[in-house]
Amino acid sequence: MHYLSREQSVFSFSRHHQPVLRINSGQSVTFQTYDCFSNQIQTEADLVASIDFARVNPATGPVFVEEARPGDVLKVEVHDVRVRDWGVISTLPEMGVLIHKAEPKTKIITVENSSIAHFDERIRFDVTPMIGVIGVAPAGEDVPCGHPGAHGGNIDTHTITRGSIVYLPVNVEGALFALGDVHASMGDGEICGTGIEIAGEVDTTLSVVKGQTITRPMVETSDSWYTIAEDHDISRAIRIACEDMQTLLVEKWNLTPTDAYLLMSVAGDVQMCQCCKPSPVEVVARFRMPKLKNMPRLIG
Ligand code: CA
Ligand code: CA
Repeated sequence: MHYLSREQSVFSFSRHHQPVLRINSGQSVTFQTYDCFSNQIQTEADLVASIDFARVNPATGPVFVEEARPGDVLKVEVHDVRVRDWGVISTLPEMGVLIHKAEPKTKIITVENSSIAHFDERIRFDVTPMIGVIGVAPAGEDVPCGHPGAHGGNIDTHTITRGSIVYLPVNVEGALFALGDVHASMGDGEICGTGIEIAGEVDTTLSVVKGQTITRPMVETSDSWYTIAEDHDISRAIRIACEDMQTLLVEKWNLTPTDAYLLMSVAGDVQMCQCCKPSPVEVVARFRMPKLKNMPRLIG
């Protein structure tokens, strides 16, 4: 088992970064992570407007996986996501669905045993910690960790949690994998622009899948398959996620494109990952297809 401490982090996904760890396919790595503010917010008096934005959204890594070559798929098994006992929710300047009806605010939330969030003295709810930023180096230009893309990055998908498997397209030799931006909890859409931002530790196994290529990230859970897509336009993001699922169902379940479309309409779900940011910043959508009895795996 390899361990990476949070100081071994980057602020972009880039083919130019030097790896902080080299492993073979199938090895396990635990990633310690900062929260998305690099732990700059410590009290409710610390407003987001006062922090150094050059240090927002660090990702621990990157890890070079020896067997990974462009065109392969990197399989990331998420065994556990543990979080510290407090996190941060905040408004973000000029961002979020209801920012016109909100005051600048930082709220510190107690999180008990990585499983119960205490919103205040009265309100508590069960949480399953998840990973906001997870990805590999893109083939082209560097992408800051705050942005989503076909390489992954800030895809803010709450299905990426304990027990999930994330599949990422390998774009460069070694893949150069990194993750960060753990949330104790985040709702679909992340409407205020933050989850419960929190430092954490993530246990993974990283493996290379040969012989299958994907264009964008996918997620597998115990009962579902997810395609994930980002775009500046919410309708296009939804359409791309749907097209990716349709393509998989045609290939793997031997359906015509039309039958795949019809099945998706009656058995699957369009869901939002993140849609808190003003245009033209990217939104992220996903399509959920349930695992159906006797039907083949869609990947891996
Ligand atoms: Ca995020
Ligand atoms: Ca976040």
